[in-house]
Amino acid sequence: MRSVLISGGCGFLGSHLIDRLLLRTDLERLVVVDNLWTGSMRNIAHIDDPRLGLEIQDAESFVSHHRFDEIIHLASPASPLWYMREPARTIRANIGGALNLLTLLKPDGRFCFASTSEVYGDPLVSPQPETYRGSVDCTGPRSSYDESKRCTEALLFEQRRVADLDVRVVRLFNTYGPRTRIDDGRAVSNFIAQALTTGIVTVYGDGAQSRSWGYVDDIIEGMERFFWRDPITHQGPLNIGNNCEISVLEIAEFVCSLVPGSRIEHHAPVPQDPTNRCPDLTLARQVLPGWEARTAYQEGVRMTLEWFREQMAIGSALENRAAGAAAL
Ligand code: UDP
Repeated sequence: MRSVLISGGCGFLGSHLIDRLLLRTDLERLVVVDNLWTGSMRNIAHIDDPRLGLEIQDAESFVSHHRFDEIIHLASPASPLWYMREPARTIRANIGGALNLLTLLKPDGRFCFASTSEVYGDPLVSPQPETYRGSVDCTGPRSSYDESKRCTEALLFEQRRVADLDVRVVRLFNTYGPRTRIDDGRAVSNFIAQALTTGIVTVYGDGAQSRSWGYVDDIIEGMERFFWRDPITHQGPLNIGNNCEISVLEIAEFVCSLVPGSRIEHHAPVPQDPTNRCPDLTLARQVLPGWEARTAYQEGVRMTLEWFREQMAIGSALENRAAGAAAL
């Protein structure tokens, strides 16, 4: 039976991964370490499972006498809006988190890490294979995230070299879907939240910059197979994402087409905004035969929009109830 720790388990991806972890019959104990910086208790509120234990703590300082068979390190903001506000904290979560959590791993344990396509920076080749070394500015506004992910990769692969650490590193491309914060700030969720509230969808620059938008269920399926389900010898890094590259403007227009009365407003371009991003999935297809990020953005955006609508309806029902109770 396996004892697993997941940092960042109350976040967008972490909570989806927990749903999959709890389906495992070999799971004895699941410890979730999360400081609720960008994560939320609401993301795991539906879970009632005695194997799960929640520790509201920073990954970089969490202490336990217990040692784990598997550690999945996801603790980090992933939205530029959030990590640019607190760069030191972002670096601590990634690198400090990995350094600390490594001490909690059993000698033959496995350490899984969510790295990012941001390690490719503003890429000069497309699509980007794992062998591409990237084009990152270590003094730029995105560097706290890009470089701390890169450094954590370095830490893990070097630990593999010197100590035979069993590592699994995925490089995730843009991911969207239910359980993104309404104030997350990343494109898909921001466009939906804006369309449903103010009706004004903000596109930075002309919107010609492109991304490969992956629906959360597809991405989680790839992570689950790579982290624990498939008998795999490859340790990564492994690109996981949708390889259908679509402009920001096209996504914004599609969201507006689903919400009558909403419209696009162009704002100043963001400094060092990558112009393009698309995974080369050759390796992923070899390592995870049959896996594909199949959900087209039209379908994924519709499902995400429905989820946001439901959340907003629940939110306003609760507010009305509170206002009603206060008036009594
Ligand atoms: N973007 C935008 N308006 C928004 C949020 C994002 O035009 O309200 C653009 C952003 O400038 C970038 C792309 O959408 O070109 C993806 O941004 P996101 O923050 O989702 O992720 P990134 O790939 O930049 O980390």
